[in-house]
Amino acid sequence: MRLILLGPPGAGKGTQALRLVDRYHIIQLSTGEMLRAAVKAETAIGLRAKDIMASGALVPDEVVVGIISDRIAEPDAEKGFILDGFPRTVPQAEALDALLKSHGLSLDAVVELRVNESALLHRVEKRVAQMSERGETVRLDDTPEVLSKRLASYRAQTEPLVHYYSERRKLLTIDGMMTIEEVTAEIQRVLDALQATEKKIAAKSSRRRAPAKTSVKASAKAVARQSAPAKPKTSQKSKTPKAAEKASKTAGRTKTAAKRPAKAKTAKKPAKQVVKNVTKRRTRLTKGR
Ligand code: AMP
Repeated sequence: MRLILLGPPGAGKGTQALRLVDRYHIIQLSTGEMLRAAVKAETAIGLRAKDIMASGALVPDEVVVGIISDRIAEPDAEKGFILDGFPRTVPQAEALDALLKSHGLSLDAVVELRVNESALLHRVEKRVAQMSERGETVRLDDTPEVLSKRLASYRAQTEPLVHYYSERRKLLTIDGMMTIEEVTAEIQRVLDALQATEKKIAAKSSRRRAPAKTSVKASAKAVARQSAPAKPKTSQKSKTPKAAEKASKTAGRTKTAAKRPAKAKTAKKPAKQVVKNVTKRRTRLTKGR
């Protein structure tokens, strides 16, 4: 499963992402965390992002797109992932579309956590107080002042993605004001329903596709057997109907399958010819004797 968690800072994306990781056995890709790791490690990207992040502004698109592009290509992302904090702008969303397309992948859903902004400020204040109590380091951008800036950039640059993904029929909006447990349950409910629908559609289309594929394959096998050179007449006779029977059986007993042996018919000619030639040769030999 490939998901995006969309929502303003403090909406609980990180918390919900961790729960989705457990449930769907996919990985969480948080650009915020990757950038913080880069800042800590003082890499070139980290040095570039440090002050921007501390001010509550967004890091340039090409930086985060580059990070995600590398990360998606890693083997642990094969089973699926949750993008947390990415994309944050329309150009990032477009870059992601292109990236997924180039890997032959698609998005399953974009889960939007809709929250009330004044409640977010209250949440952040509470979180900062709890972290300080536990003696944990508070993030530089986790202050009410910086949060106001981050909310402003969310409104201006990220909120347009709600429309972007709603137009592409990917958006699932969840009320992020419920308790953490309720939000988790609601996300799981909609995703499970989505998965069930996707499975049904996949099963239907594979049922529709399978007969044609199998019958073509089976007919091809029959053709190969029939045009195989000069096997004893008896084995030719006994094998051909079996192959045809197998072809029509494995073809799912559909009309298409019933029509398929046309290919096998055309291939009978060379097989018959081979048998004729063998018989002629045998006759000549007998006469010669
Ligand atoms: P987060 O932990 O997701 O709230 O991100 C923390 C900070 O990292 C943000 O305020 C931005 O400065 C930066 N950041 C994270 N993800 C992105 C992104 N997709 N685009 C631009 N900047 C980002």
